[in-house]
Amino acid sequence: MDIITGNAGWIEVICGPMFSGKSEELIRRLRRAMIARKRVAVFKPVIDDRYSAEEIVSHGDLRMQSQVIHDAGEMLERIDWRAEVVGVDEANFMGPSLVEVAGRLADSGKQVIIAGLDTDYLGRPFAPIPDLLAQAESITKTLAVCVRCGNPAKHTQRLRGSDELIVVGAKDMYEARCRRCFEPGIPKQQEIDFVKARRREP
Ligand code: ADP
Ligand code: ZN
Repeated sequence: MDIITGNAGWIEVICGPMFSGKSEELIRRLRRAMIARKRVAVFKPVIDDRYSAEEIVSHGDLRMQSQVIHDAGEMLERIDWRAEVVGVDEANFMGPSLVEVAGRLADSGKQVIIAGLDTDYLGRPFAPIPDLLAQAESITKTLAVCVRCGNPAKHTQRLRGSDELIVVGAKDMYEARCRRCFEPGIPKQQEIDFVKARRREP
């Protein structure tokens, strides 16, 4: 990526569906910053407790220490202002204030790298990534592999259970699908199986 350095900050967004390597790419960029002896601050939202409380973790088990926060505003209170690079994972759980906070951090000269889902389980744009894309200097779209047909996958398929916007889960709840195999919402047969299985529970 050719971004002219100096003291001007900027925003980089890494977006795509689940399993597309967003966390891996975020960790890769942050590791490179550390190798360059830059001071790095890493944040993740508290809601994402799937794997580890104080680390960001990829599905392939790459890990990096992070501070756990409740909303984006907390970054401004907890950040060591000497940090030159700021990483944020799971941006979709951070709330809309992330757009303003990321802008302030970039305005103060920091390289801000944000990873998050760009679409939800219905295939709709997923806040706050669309607004961040409009603010960003650099955008990377990561694609997964469709588990049905092997084509490049841009969708996160929810497999069962709920029509809430945010339902935390990994392989048992979601899979990657391409535009042809994606079924917005919850696949009917999967839902029937899920309800039947729950009825059988004591
Ligand atoms: P994300 O942050 O986008 O959810 P991760 O960086 O956590 O993605 O995980 C990416 C890794 O997930 C891949 O390197 C691969 O090992 C694994 N993986 C599991 N299922 C898939 C899939 N359907 N397509 C691509 N990678 C997958
Ligand atoms: Zn497919």
